[in-house]
This record gives sequence, C-alpha cells and structure tokens, in this order.
Amino acid sequence: MKRFTLITISVSVLVSAALLLALVRPSIQQPDVQEVFAMDMAEPLFEKALQASATSTGPMEYVIISPTGTHSYAPNTIWRKRFLAEPILHFGEISAHIPVLMYHKIEKQKPQNSRVSRLMTVSPAHFEKQMQELVDLGYTTITPTQVELALKGGILPKKPIVITFDDGHRSQYTYAYPILRRLGLRATFFIVTNYIDRPAYMTRRMIQDMQDAGVATIGSHTIDHHGLNDLSLVRQQSELADSKKILEDMFGKPVTTFAYPYGIHNAEVITQTKAAGYASAYSCYLGTTQGALSKYELRRIRVNDGEPMKELLDYFEKN
Ligand SMILES: [Zn+2]
Repeated sequence: MKRFTLITISVSVLVSAALLLALVRPSIQQPDVQEVFAMDMAEPLFEKALQASATSTGPMEYVIISPTGTHSYAPNTIWRKRFLAEPILHFGEISAHIPVLMYHKIEKQKPQNSRVSRLMTVSPAHFEKQMQELVDLGYTTITPTQVELALKGGILPKKPIVITFDDGHRSQYTYAYPILRRLGLRATFFIVTNYIDRPAYMTRRMIQDMQDAGVATIGSHTIDHHGLNDLSLVRQQSELADSKKILEDMFGKPVTTFAYPYGIHNAEVITQTKAAGYASAYSCYLGTTQGALSKYELRRIRVNDGEPMKELLDYFEKN
C-alpha cells in the first residue's frame, strides 16, 4: 500500500515536471526576429514578415497602438506588429537606453499611397504633435556623436532621444525642419548622395541651411541606396567610403555615422562600415537598448503617422 502511494507520488512529480518543462520551453525558443524586422521596409518582404509573425511560436513581441483609425493601412485599425530585436548584451558591456526615432517623408498622406508608402509617411500636423509631445515629456535630442560617447562610458542628458530622417526627401526640409527649429530640436539626416538636388529630394543648399541652423547632423545613407549585402566588395566599399567623402566635402564636417539602406546588413557589411571610418551605424532593428558591442547595429523605432509619442516611448521604457 505504502509502496503504491510512493509510486503514485513519483509519477505525479514526473508528470508535473514534464508539464512545467512544456510550459517553460516556448519562452526560451529563439525565433529569427531580427531578420524579419530588418525586412520591414520592402513591400514583398514586409508581407513575409507579417506572415512569419503570424506563424511564429517563439517570444515574438508586438504591441497594439491606440485604435484612432485615421491613418492606417488597414481600414479603421492602426495596429502594427513590433518585432523586438534588442541586442544580447555581454557581461560588462556598456549599454544605454536611447530611443532613436526613424522618419522618412513628412507630408500629407495621398490616397494613392501604397501600404508601404503610408508606413513611410507622417503628415506635418501629426509630426508637429509628436515633436511637441517630446518637448512636453522632457526629452533632450542628442546627436550620434553623443550616442557614440555614451557607449564609451560618457554621460548622457536626462531622457536622451535621437530623431533620424532617411533618404533626404524634400518634405523633410519643407515641413519637418521649421518645426524642429521652432522647438529647438536636433535631428540626424541620412543622405543618399546621388539623390541630392533631385526634384523630390533636398538640394545641397537646403541641407546646408539645416546644418548651419544647428538643427541637422549629416549622416550617410550610401550613394545609390542599394541593399549592401548583395553588392561586390568593391561596390560596398565605394558606397560606404565615397558617400562619406562626398558629404564631408560638400558640408565641411566629419561624417561619423551611417544608416544601412532598408536596414539590410551582414557581418561583412559591418566590417566594411568600420573600415570606411564610421564610428556608428543605424539599423532597422527595433528596440531602444544600445550596446557598445552593437554600435554598428543601433536600434531604431519607425514612427507611424498619428502615433501618440507618450504611449510609444512608454512601451519601450517598460519593456
Ligand atoms: Zn533609405
């Protein structure tokens, strides 16, 4: 009788342990989150990312932002999946919580905008509201150089934040720049050198104006905006080093930072980015934890049109 009880207890302990393992296991699986998010910018790949997130069994995180319903790519919803790709910090590695906002076009949404164009566009009125919110919340805009120094142990102001603009669209000068200037905010503009002076892009003079006003820091976004992974080594080196030189000659200041077109990069591209003389580089990985050992894969947050800044930043404060 006693023996039977003992067996029963042993069996139930084993069953509980197995159940517990089954429960714990999914949370330690590592899905390929980083790769999924890096693809966010290109339309077919964005679809792929959404599909991958739907079938993922791992700890893929997403957040639903307030359903205000005015500016979404699906009617009456503004929910967006966020693929968190925070770096794995190494023992003793210096790190800092620095949100880096990513913007593209600042103009009114056009009815004919594709789904991806909508994600890349924030209307001037919404942009102004988001910037005012940053000021009201007590954030201080900092430069990539300050980020680089912080990752060497330097001190940051309270509530630091970086505002970035990609591609050099003219609407950044027309609509974003006056707002930034009025509110005393700084931002970093990642410029594609071959796009300068094209009709829909900023002229050399416009970029110079923003720099002279103390608003803009200039970073490189290559010469031609090709994804770097698929280019030959020689071409990669040229896209990285020549664009840096062109921008430095044009605007008379060292260009220390870079953003990968489409966020696409690999280990070789990182090696070439360092070799070209950049001190840091920005990816499209989502997150706000910036690590010294991943300063060539700094995290950013793409901001949606009409997104409430407080909710967005609070989410990352808590996670
Ligand atoms: Zn770009």
